[in-house]
Amino acid sequence: MIRSAARAAVAAKSLATWLAICVALLASAVGSAKAQPVAESKSRLDVIVLGSGGPGATGRAGSAYLVLLDGMPRILVDAGPGSFVRIGEAGVPLTAIDTILLTHLHADHAGELPGIVKALAVSRRSRIQLRVFGPDGRAADESHAAFPSTRRLIDLLFGPAGAFGYLANFSAPVSFATMDIATQRAGAPPVVQSIVNEGGLTVRAIAGHHRDAPSVIYRIDYAGRSVTFTGDIDAKGHAALRRIASGTDLLVFNSVVLDPPLSPEILYTLHTPPGEIGAIAADAHVERLLLSHLSPATDERRDAVRESIARRFAGPVEFASDGARITP
Ligand SMILES: [Zn+2]
Ligand SMILES: [Zn+2]
Repeated sequence: MIRSAARAAVAAKSLATWLAICVALLASAVGSAKAQPVAESKSRLDVIVLGSGGPGATGRAGSAYLVLLDGMPRILVDAGPGSFVRIGEAGVPLTAIDTILLTHLHADHAGELPGIVKALAVSRRSRIQLRVFGPDGRAADESHAAFPSTRRLIDLLFGPAGAFGYLANFSAPVSFATMDIATQRAGAPPVVQSIVNEGGLTVRAIAGHHRDAPSVIYRIDYAGRSVTFTGDIDAKGHAALRRIASGTDLLVFNSVVLDPPLSPEILYTLHTPPGEIGAIAADAHVERLLLSHLSPATDERRDAVRESIARRFAGPVEFASDGARITP
């Protein structure tokens, strides 16, 4: 009995050692081989599209982007399903990512968080502090679902009693500083708030609107260039979008529906049609549009989408694809 317990203890110890070696090997392989800035980058602000689709499984990953400062990925915008694979395919180092911006907590925008956080944990040796920004929550009512706040989501996933609480100390220790962005101010229009301001980097946020899902629009400014991410947005968020996107170099606009009446009516309570996208881009004096979160409807009718946008917006319009690298 004692002997078999001792044997079990030895076996457990060697298994633990083996696991530690595996983790260390993976960390050193990823960490040392990819610790340099991306060589070909000469620009100071870049965006890599990790996921240009969602929510359907259409061959594109769900919504996700990496924002690179001086060639190093620093900011993850959304974490849609499939983006884990795209991060690996991008072949960029993960050692500098310190900020996660969540536009809203639909599964096609946040479902890959655990896999990505674990990938970050095994890519480094030193303590990882991630700051996470996202919308506040809302309670359910008779016609709407409940949404947790971003703080609650992070706690449910990675807190001490969270589903993946083990990740805090599995490899490199991981901790989170999470900030909820207020999305409901009764009677008052949403205001732009500065959430990061350091070393020439400014991240600003404003409440968007996505039917019942609390949502946030983000704008990132660095080295004289800027990129703005609409997230999923319906008409009630357009005034806020015009405000925060004013003069932005690149507007990443989620493009899910065709002009009415060509898409199911319910979708217009969630998303923005091309005619409105063109009007907003023109009004906000946007330099360039990148259409993303493409649905089969918008993907298959690109000419119609372009034509509709061009009625108001004369600048360049591109369609996103997974893995595309864009300099604002
Ligand atoms: Zn959504
Ligand atoms: Zn979506």
